[in-house]
Amino acid sequence: MNKVDVLIIGGGISGLASAWWLARSGLSVEVWEAGERSGGKIMSTRQDGYLTERAASMVLNFRPEVAELMREAGLESAKTARLPGAEARRYLLHKGRLKALPMRLGSMVVSPLWSLRGKLRLLAEPFIFSSGRSEESVSEFITRRLGREVLEKAMEPFVAGTLAADADQASAAAVLPRLMALEQRYGSIGAGVLVNRVLRRSTASATDTFSFRGGMATLVEALAQAPGINLRTGHTAQELVREREGWQAVAATPHGQRTVSACHVIVATPAPAAAALVNPLDKELAELLRGIGYAPVNVVHAGMARDAVGHPLDGTGFLAPKGESGTLTGNLWMSALFPDRAPPGKVLLTSYLGGARAPKVADWDDGRLVDETFRTLRPLMDLKSDPEMVRIDRHCEALPAYHGAYQARMQAITARLQHIPSLHLEANYRGGVSVRDRLVCGHAVADRILGAQCWPSVERKRREEAQQSGTKTAYSLESMDAALE
Ligand SMILES: Cc1cc2nc3c(=O)[nH]c(=O)nc-3n(C[C@H](O)[C@H](O)[C@H](O)COP(=O)(O)OP(=O)(O)OC[C@H]3O[C@@H](n4cnc5c(N)ncnc54)[C@H](O)[C@@H]3O)c2cc1C
Repeated sequence: MNKVDVLIIGGGISGLASAWWLARSGLSVEVWEAGERSGGKIMSTRQDGYLTERAASMVLNFRPEVAELMREAGLESAKTARLPGAEARRYLLHKGRLKALPMRLGSMVVSPLWSLRGKLRLLAEPFIFSSGRSEESVSEFITRRLGREVLEKAMEPFVAGTLAADADQASAAAVLPRLMALEQRYGSIGAGVLVNRVLRRSTASATDTFSFRGGMATLVEALAQAPGINLRTGHTAQELVREREGWQAVAATPHGQRTVSACHVIVATPAPAAAALVNPLDKELAELLRGIGYAPVNVVHAGMARDAVGHPLDGTGFLAPKGESGTLTGNLWMSALFPDRAPPGKVLLTSYLGGARAPKVADWDDGRLVDETFRTLRPLMDLKSDPEMVRIDRHCEALPAYHGAYQARMQAITARLQHIPSLHLEANYRGGVSVRDRLVCGHAVADRILGAQCWPSVERKRREEAQQSGTKTAYSLESMDAALE
């Protein structure tokens, strides 16, 4: 039977990131992916000269671990930054028209998008002393602190458009942990931001927004091919058996069953698949995982001639509040965001439909999805013709909805896992859905595994690296000596 240090089940970004941090330290890692390719939801496709993204289309980074991974995985030179104009504006669908969202407090004060009452309510935030109930929803937290208008014109469309969630049900502690931490620490979000600015601490602002020249697939492909990672596609994990020292795992493969023994196992699948795997080990844990809901999202990519779009496309795209749009939650102007997303003279517009707001879209056929998308886009963006390229990506379980008493659920999951220390659950229902969060959580689980026991292979690798850097120092000293002679 094959033996590895760590077996990872699920070859999406969560599994691959964990694998990368572990292999880099010298552990032997095998990744089982049920599908025929790695990357999970993330996939970039070239079609008729357009580059489309099935799920994540960019990374918003402010974490040093992500910068470290980019550097060490040799991905810096493959990155592509946002086009300069794209940083200028974001739009909001408001009263049937696209309105530029104010990006700074100063511009908000003069923006016609906000009523005088809404502006005064926002400015009163530092003087709000009420505290919320535990497990407050996003709607409750934002309305209590910043007022109803901020909820309706900023937070609700943000939560629907980026998390496919419903602000009335989403847990504020799970979705907005940094804003809640500011309130807890400073008594006010505004005061907290101000104190952090004055002290020059890291603020909530993203410092680096990027994709890759070949699309987000570049990231998952680079991780999957990194030295020390043994990726096996077409391997569906079926059974996990606890042994005296570690695990025995069984996968169904196109060539029959494969069994591997491992010291640690990371289950990096969506929650329903994780629940099925852990059910024989811990029924309570499986029940907690089964209770995590998912919302469907359909992505409609449209390629068009530039002159068929009347809108200047001077920004990243727009978000649509629920009062304005029943099914379409947002639209990204991909060709305005990153270079080479559309052929010269063409544009690529990517729309997101569904989420918790409209789960019914999961049942819609392609024709209905395209009709609904263009019925919404045509008047808003002054579209003068039909698209020359359409591609539809469907996710029946797009994102975990961080709904209800989510923090309590996560704490209960963590408590159950204390009894099974060599089993780890690492996917986007824990610690954030963004690619940044997945890379950071992968780093954290690798740290926990590395610290859990003494790993001879890790010690060996450290010694070799120390020797190599010693040799390099010796060489450079020698060359300095030589230069002095
Ligand atoms: C439409 C959309 C747009 C998004 N946009 C952005 C964005 O712009 N920026 C951003 O940061 N994030 C974005 N995200 C979020 C991000 O893409 C996802 O959260 C992330 O890709 C999920 O990765 P994962 O590895 O946790 O899960 P997955 O990608 O779902 O990977 C899990 C893997 O496990 C495998 N698996 C399941 N069961 C088994 C089994 N029994 N054995 C073996 N393998 C198994 C599956 O085949 C799958 O490959 C977006 C998501 C969506 C849906």
